[in-house]
Amino acid sequence: MPIISVDLDGVIHQYSKKYHDGTMYDPPIHGAKESLASLTADGFEIHIVTARLWPGHGTAEQQRRQIEQWLHQHGFIKGTHYHELTNNKPPAIAYIDDRAIEFQSWEQVSNQLMRFPPSSYEPGKPA
Ligand SMILES: [Mg+2]
Repeated sequence: MPIISVDLDGVIHQYSKKYHDGTMYDPPIHGAKESLASLTADGFEIHIVTARLWPGHGTAEQQRRQIEQWLHQHGFIKGTHYHELTNNKPPAIAYIDDRAIEFQSWEQVSNQLMRFPPSSYEPGKPA
């Protein structure tokens, strides 16, 4: 099945306060559940890809448990709305991410990255 990679924070989870305290504090983004169910029904394999499972963000097992609990609580069912929950980039046909920059040229990428000056981030803190 063709894979679609779907980011969690800012794409499925509203993420209105950014990383905040590391919890899943918001409800889902409007339309996320229906769209994922529809893509799955159309024959796509949905991989939820999240940096929350990155080792720097508490233990990966705690984060996985929290995310799975949040997905369950909001009616996201494995096999119906998604197939994998991972921090590994899969060989997908499309990557849906609120922080993605679609590559056209390095010049265009450089221009778009000017919106994210490194000085606006706290060193070592997830954004
Ligand atoms: Mg995101």
